[in-house]
Amino acid sequence: FTDFIATPKRTKQILHQYGFSFKKSLGQNFIIDANILKNIISSAGIDKTSGVIEIGPGIGSLTEQLAIHAKKVIAFEIDRRLLPILSDTLSSFSNVTIINEDILKANIQQEIKKHFTPDLHIHIVANLPYYITTPILMNVLQQETPIESITVMLQKEVADRMAALPNTKAYGSLSIAVQYYTEAQVVMEVPKTVFIPQPNVTSSVLKLVRRKEPLVKVANEEQFFTIVQASFTHRRKTIRNNLVSFFKQTYDKGEINEFLSSAQIEGSRRGESLSIHEFAALSNAFDR
Ligand code: SAM
Repeated sequence: FTDFIATPKRTKQILHQYGFSFKKSLGQNFIIDANILKNIISSAGIDKTSGVIEIGPGIGSLTEQLAIHAKKVIAFEIDRRLLPILSDTLSSFSNVTIINEDILKANIQQEIKKHFTPDLHIHIVANLPYYITTPILMNVLQQETPIESITVMLQKEVADRMAALPNTKAYGSLSIAVQYYTEAQVVMEVPKTVFIPQPNVTSSVLKLVRRKEPLVKVANEEQFFTIVQASFTHRRKTIRNNLVSFFKQTYDKGEINEFLSSAQIEGSRRGESLSIHEFAALSNAFDR
């Protein structure tokens, strides 16, 4: 019996053996607590019917646990220095493929077809590089893929914004962008102490379950997201004032008032009080 990679002792030994130095610019904070990883994997609902996509395997701590629980794992790692380490630490698993690619440039759909059999349920599970959490998630959500859920570790503050409900401080355009495509839930908070090196911020595990259809029907998606953005430009301003100043080249105040009343929204409300359904009604009123 040897220890899991996700222990302080094994991790330090691996880092020492390969003379590995962390690159802060790549968001390299490795997990050294196998219990946290098992919690993540069980929250994600991973079992032997699962094909898992991991983003940023590092030295393989989460990958190892995924290989144990899932049928097949593919992991995208940008840092070439980690490739020889991963082929050593994961040598006893035949169900793992490491892909040396930037996740933001990868053709995920193509890799899914290449590596997963059609019977598998596909999930993303990752401890994300924190400098690009939002681009990674939005990039995945906006693509047509068969990914059923995304369970990831990220900054607590960002996780809270993604899962936030109306009338809370954290609710904003990011909440709406994420919840348009998924059901979002913060699963647990994770202290800094389970990483080396320790990050500057507290972390959370966020679970996103993809909806079969977007939450609301909008005539024009781009318009919908523009109106959402516009409504949150100045959080303390009313929705009417935000829309009037944002659209001053295109619509006059009278037209904005008409759109608001046809969507049955009081112009004196603030953006943060509107549900996603109300934003959809508003966007569709602009489109009529
Ligand atoms: N999964 C490991 C763990 O939990 O200990 C490492 C997680 S660490 C927070 C993030 C990993 O993502 C690092 O290994 C880093 O090199 C990698 N990474 C950073 N940017 C990336 C990108 N654009 N594409 C793929 N991997 C990236």
